[in-house]
Amino acid sequence: MSITVTSLVKHFDNFAALKGIDLAVRPGEFLALLGPSGSGKTTLLRILAGLEFPDAGQLTIDGVDVSDQGARDRQMGFVFQHYALFKHMTVTQNIGFGLKVKPRRERPSSAEITERVDRLLQLVQLEQLGDRYPSQLSGGQRQRVALARALAIEPRVLLLDEPFGALDAKVRKDLRRWLRGLHDEMGITSIFVSHDQEEALELADRVAVMSEGRIAQIGTPTEIYRNPANAFVCEFLGNTNRLNCRIEKGGARLGEQFFTAQVPSDAPALPGVAYVRPEDCDIHTEPNAPGLKARVLKIHAAGPTVRVELRRLESDEIIEIHLQPGVDAPDIGADVALTFRRVRIFPV
Ligand code: ADP
Ligand code: MG
Repeated sequence: MSITVTSLVKHFDNFAALKGIDLAVRPGEFLALLGPSGSGKTTLLRILAGLEFPDAGQLTIDGVDVSDQGARDRQMGFVFQHYALFKHMTVTQNIGFGLKVKPRRERPSSAEITERVDRLLQLVQLEQLGDRYPSQLSGGQRQRVALARALAIEPRVLLLDEPFGALDAKVRKDLRRWLRGLHDEMGITSIFVSHDQEEALELADRVAVMSEGRIAQIGTPTEIYRNPANAFVCEFLGNTNRLNCRIEKGGARLGEQFFTAQVPSDAPALPGVAYVRPEDCDIHTEPNAPGLKARVLKIHAAGPTVRVELRRLESDEIIEIHLQPGVDAPDIGADVALTFRRVRIFPV
């Protein structure tokens, strides 16, 4: 199923939660909505599901305008952050619920429902637990039940709102790999909300980064990570150095290197900020090596990458770099030069 959203606007009283969203989701795609708390992710997802209605804008599924359809007609599966399972129903009853409440002419027979629920129990690997109640399950198991329940109605689109947000890191990681496998196997279209960049970048075909009711950038994980379109995306994706610079003649100098700014400007000179990822920095320890001058403060050698913390001499800004494999760690206190392989520059 393809989904297109055009100029979507949503207010809560005077507050603009969505300020004009345009989005095209491709059939079979796994799209992540990534953004800080309050950026409008849940609101967008609820509008897609038909649980909330926009003030303006259009929504189509496979080219058909569904803006006026209710949740039931849209046939979307929905999984929330907090396992909203029915406490008084067993796992089997929870999964079959959406089928049992269908209008009579669409409702499968009892035998068909039993068969479908059995298949879903297998799919989410809970065959042995059909008779348990939600209180007798772990968090990860509950979320798998919630997912099976969402899939029972054979939805055209799966909408997931931080479904693993309440789980601990290890379970979360396992479940998201498993979810991606399930998505691929079923050939469904999925939209997944997350505020965790690692999760979104690992899981999704494309990521839409949201900020204050707008999509700040949409692209593949590699595009978003390597070529962030603006300062917000640079900062939100984290693990990046932020260095003050001066934009002149369309770019800025860092040490002896010149980098073109990402936003063209006619102004003769303006303050800017340069974003550099730790893995895009090279360190030069030989005396008078060209580059940005910095002093080594700390070395963190535990873990797979050696991280070096430095202080930029001209400004006292702190810079973190990751040493390339095979490069010797510098001495603490040494004055060194840094060069950069990739820099993103934006006006402040
Ligand atoms: P996210 O899921 O990205 O954290 P939400 O879509 O839940 O963000 O919320 C976006 C903004 O809209 C927030 O500032 C939130 O307080 C506001 N908001 C969401 N739902 C309502 C509502 N029902 N009434 C009033 N304000 C709301
Ligand atoms: Mg939310």
